[in-house]
Amino acid sequence: MCVSSDTKETQCDVDDVLQCSSSSDTSDNDCDPDLKEDDSVPYEVEIEEPSNTSKFSISGRQVVDISYFLQELKSLKYDGFDCSFFDMDLISEKRCGLSSTFMFQCNVCNTISKIASENLKTAMSSNMAAVIGSVSIGIGHTQVTELFASLDIPNMCDKTYGKLHLVIAED
Ligand SMILES: [Zn+2]
Repeated sequence: MCVSSDTKETQCDVDDVLQCSSSSDTSDNDCDPDLKEDDSVPYEVEIEEPSNTSKFSISGRQVVDISYFLQELKSLKYDGFDCSFFDMDLISEKRCGLSSTFMFQCNVCNTISKIASENLKTAMSSNMAAVIGSVSIGIGHTQVTELFASLDIPNMCDKTYGKLHLVIAED
């Protein structure tokens, strides 16, 4: 569950990506039994240029559950066009503190897949682990941020840290 309102978070708009043009010709001519092949309505060919020519890229380091992440990457396979991970382009990242969800789009069949940096169903998220660890060694959000900054790992915002800290305090 994402509770972060981190300003660095990249919002992805799946709807924009999924837009596709499909126009069906509902001309009555198709139903005309006298219509010969030569009389058919001329086709209008429309070539769509890719709207996003500059590829999305990410930099720095990330905290990932490596086993889970590699397993999820392997699962990117679509039988229809026999597409696999090698056909996928990273199009966006939605980040929630230390945890990220990456959106991949197949450049063959346009299918969009989401892969999280860790199993979001597990009880102990990387964000929670970082807060528990910082509490146990007696540091706060400022020190955690400095540590992650020197590692070039994006950290959770103050609000997320505070909320998770409250959860620990209540336990
Ligand atoms: Zn595909």
